[in-house]
Amino acid sequence: MSINLEVPGKLRGLVKQCHDVATQVLRRNARKYDLAEHDYPVELDMLAAMVDGLGASGNGSGAGASGVRRTAAAEDGVVNGSNLSSVLSIMEMCWGDVGLLLSMPRQGLGNSAIASVASDEQLKRFEGVWAAMAITEPDCGSDSANIRTTARPDGDDYILDGEKIFVTAGGRCDAVVVWATLDKSKGRAAIKSFVVEKGTPGMVVERLEHKLGIRASDTATIRFTDCRVPKENLLGSPDIEAEQGFAGVMQTFDNTRPLVAAMAIGCARAALDEIEDLLKEAGVEPDYDRPAFTQHAAAAAYLQMEADWEAAYLLMLEATWMADNNQPNSLQASMAKAKAGRVGVDITLRCVELAGSFGYGENSLLEKWARDSKILDIFEGTQQIQQLIVARRLLNKSSAELK
Ligand SMILES: Cc1cc2nc3c(=O)[nH]c(=O)nc-3n(C[C@H](O)[C@H](O)[C@H](O)COP(=O)(O)OP(=O)(O)OC[C@H]3O[C@@H](n4cnc5c(N)ncnc54)[C@H](O)[C@@H]3O)c2cc1C
Repeated sequence: MSINLEVPGKLRGLVKQCHDVATQVLRRNARKYDLAEHDYPVELDMLAAMVDGLGASGNGSGAGASGVRRTAAAEDGVVNGSNLSSVLSIMEMCWGDVGLLLSMPRQGLGNSAIASVASDEQLKRFEGVWAAMAITEPDCGSDSANIRTTARPDGDDYILDGEKIFVTAGGRCDAVVVWATLDKSKGRAAIKSFVVEKGTPGMVVERLEHKLGIRASDTATIRFTDCRVPKENLLGSPDIEAEQGFAGVMQTFDNTRPLVAAMAIGCARAALDEIEDLLKEAGVEPDYDRPAFTQHAAAAAYLQMEADWEAAYLLMLEATWMADNNQPNSLQASMAKAKAGRVGVDITLRCVELAGSFGYGENSLLEKWARDSKILDIFEGTQQIQQLIVARRLLNKSSAELK
């Protein structure tokens, strides 16, 4: 099997549609909700209905974060599946606005977790639910094997106790996919994820954060106290299988890291397009047929940024393609996330620099994109954590051997 790097014909319509929506809805409202942090972006309700419609019609399977499910690999060749349509649409939408994309109803990272690991019965039961993802705790971020939230079996339920912080869409969502341990002494293998629906007694959204970027997106602290969750809301196997380790919950990341890479790539593309226009206005046009060092310094900077962008884009496509074709892609997913996260921050900040004072002010979105892109190098595993995973995979070391 080999990868064709062109956008498949069947997805071109979806990409164009997302680009139009990004231009007409997300871009237009980007500054409004950057300034009005915590206000609910009502414009998204209509959009979300459209994404649902695409999914229901089968034309846009995986038109958002909820679509990243692995299916059996086709026997007769290459699959361009829901992972690819998800990254392509997310990239376009983040060209419009990352914060608003993260606020899109029913397209939360919890939806990706459900799509990735839920049974068919659960998938049906949680259809239409907007799900956030809650892993991080006050004493546990990168070291996600160290979570303290507990899940205690009791009759037909589990009882959850603990505190989750920095939950994206945690205030607005309908449900949260919560990581909790069945037995702290049994380490990673005992960590399971549970779908906890809003309104469940014992689940309280305590506060929303004020942030550097993605201000349109709500980021919540949620406390669970004697919170009773039906046993059938556990995603994956309830057994503590030592040899499986973290595999169950970590499987989600193989699907979601390319999505976050796509967010960074989309946001960086927005900055590149803007700076290209500004350079053109100033009479500077990059020439792809001449070595960069023979050109105007700003044109050379642009060419260098584009090359970096392309590398991130290709890594993201590779990781996504592997997911669609049912190939193990942890290494590629982390490579894509690491490269895209770093390139996103570098490009957006460099574009601010190239645009001078115009880039720093609120008359353009350049300064906003520089703020928005930083989180994409932090959540779903920081830059350093992705590099650690890549190193472990390449050197064949376990997490105990290389920390
Ligand atoms: C806006 C926002 C939204 C978020 N959304 C969510 C969400 O929806 N769900 C969720 O669960 N979490 C979410 N998070 C949390 C995010 O995933 C964590 O912030 C991230 O995993 C890092 O954890 P930490 O902040 O505790 O930093 P730490 O883990 O304390 O890391 C601090 C620094 O040390 C570095 N570091 C840590 N360990 C190592 C190591 N072994 N080797 C080298 N360097 C290391 C890190 O890279 C980082 O630079 C969000 C955070 C923010 C800011």
